[in-house]
Order: sequence, then C-alpha cells, then structure tokens
Amino acid sequence: MNAPPNRIGAEAIAAKGWLAAHKWLFLRRISQIGILLLFLVGPWFGWWIVKGNLNFSYTLNLLPLTDPYLLAQMLVAGKTPEQLAWIGVAIVVVFYFLVGGRSYCSWVCPVNLVSDLASWLRTRLGLKGGAHLSRSARYWILGMTLVVAAVTGTIAWEMVNPVSMLHRGLFFGVGFAWAVVLAVFLFELFVMRQGWCGRLCPVGAFYSLIGKLSLLRIRLPQREACNDCMDCFAVCPEPQVIRPALKGVDGAGPAILAANCTNCGRCIDVCSKDVFVFGTRFGDKVEKISPSAKRIAPAA
Ligand code: SF4
Ligand code: SF4
Repeated sequence: MNAPPNRIGAEAIAAKGWLAAHKWLFLRRISQIGILLLFLVGPWFGWWIVKGNLNFSYTLNLLPLTDPYLLAQMLVAGKTPEQLAWIGVAIVVVFYFLVGGRSYCSWVCPVNLVSDLASWLRTRLGLKGGAHLSRSARYWILGMTLVVAAVTGTIAWEMVNPVSMLHRGLFFGVGFAWAVVLAVFLFELFVMRQGWCGRLCPVGAFYSLIGKLSLLRIRLPQREACNDCMDCFAVCPEPQVIRPALKGVDGAGPAILAANCTNCGRCIDVCSKDVFVFGTRFGDKVEKISPSAKRIAPAA
C-alpha cells in the first residue's frame, strides 16, 4: 500500500534513525553542490581549481574531462576535437562505464537539484497524474539532436540544453538560461513527475547507454524481507527499474541491471528492511517469480 506523502520513508526513519535514512541523499547533495562550487570559485574568487564547465573542464591543469555527448555532437557536426578533449572523454567514459552512466544524473548534474525539488514539492502539494510520455522518448530526442548537429554542422542543442544552461546561468547570470531551468522546474512540478529527467533529457539518455553494462549496481540481498510498503517506488526517479530485481520477475536476480537506475541510493535510504545495498552486477543468480510479484505495480 502507498504511504501518504508525509509518511514516505517514515518506517525507515523509525527503524534506523533520520541520518541513516537520508545518508545517500545527504552525500549526493554534498557531491552536487561541491562540484558546482569547484566550478564557481574560479570566476567568483579567482581560485582556478577547475577551469571550464560540465562540457569540458581542466582540473589543476592536470585532469581534462570531456562530456562524451558533446564530443559525439561535435563529431557528427564535422568538427575535430583537440587531443586533450579525446583524453578527457576517455577518462569520463571509463569512469561512468564502471560506476553507472546515470550516476552522472544523481551525483553530478545540477539539474537534478531542480528536478528533485519539483518532485518533492509535487509530493507535498499532493499533485497527481499529469501528461503521459514514454520513457523511450529521450532516446528519440538524443537521435534528433545528433541529426540536427549533422545537418547544421553545429552543436545547436547546447544553446538550449538545460544542463549547460544552468551552468551558464550561474556563471554569467544569463536570463534565458534561467528561463530554461524554470521551464524544467514547472514542467516537472505541474505537468509530469520526472518529466524532463525521466523522459526527455538526451544527456541522461546518452549516459544511460555508457553505463548499460556498468560494474556498480544496486543489489537486493534481502529482497525476501520486503514488506511491500512501496516507499522505494515512491522516491525512485525511475521506478520501473525496481520491480524485476525486487520480485524476481522472469527469473531476474537480486540486482538492478536496468541502465536507467541512477545509483542515487534513495531506495537504500527509505527501506526499513535494508533490502537494498550498493554492490556489483556479478553473482546475479536466477530465481523463480515471487508470489507477490503480480501485486506490485511500478509508480507512474
Ligand atoms: S536526466 Fe539530464 S538534466 Fe536530468 S539529471 Fe540527468 S543529465 Fe541532468
Ligand atoms: S533503484 Fe534506487 S538507486 Fe536506482 S534510481 Fe531508483 S532509487 Fe535510485
């Protein structure tokens, strides 16, 4: 049974305390805000620890990092990236191949802060329903942005990409950048929960492809202990990824292997039965469908 909005996670807080029931959320916020600050202390105070932005950065004049989606757009647009950009992209691809591509979404991308705020407010205000859109729409948009880059010979998408816009808004206070970010917030608040990040964003879609076979995964060593409180479904930004591993649907083992799990760790936080932990994709033994599998439906 679904908990009322203000009771989601209450069992976990009672069972293990407030801090343990928010541990991964807290660590993610430190990561997201810390990364933003690393970028901002350069232009704000002249402390150039990191130069650049999320598209391309150079840390301590030593570590280049390049967004692979940007590089893909450049390539199809017929542009030739510099050698440093290639090194940067290799580092990023190897990193997210190991930790899960969409870890970028929950641990790095600043738009996740906006999206999480809209989700939280939506739950608090009791807003339900909204528009319906397939979660595969983001892959079509990803394809279209690459076609646009090839046809126009430019990385046109970056002019409206909310991820780049939010950075630009913080750096330069650009009005249009904030308008794009506000549009994402209002869309996710009033039109569709996780409408941007869970359905439309081509950046997240691209990173999901990088992390399809990633090593780091959420494991469910105690899935038999699940009491069907549904709190994990309520907080998960991609709830469709939970059910197969939780209920052993079609013989699925106790690990979430879906590429769109963002490794945010909220399911670990809000589970009072400690069903979820961080682990690897290995040791995923095949099991029969649990009798309660048919009762569980992923949240919209
Ligand atoms: S889906 Fe896109 S905007 Fe949302 S967190 Fe991921 S990269 Fe950022
Ligand atoms: S399954 Fe857990 S870690 Fe994965 S996206 Fe959902 S809440 Fe986050």
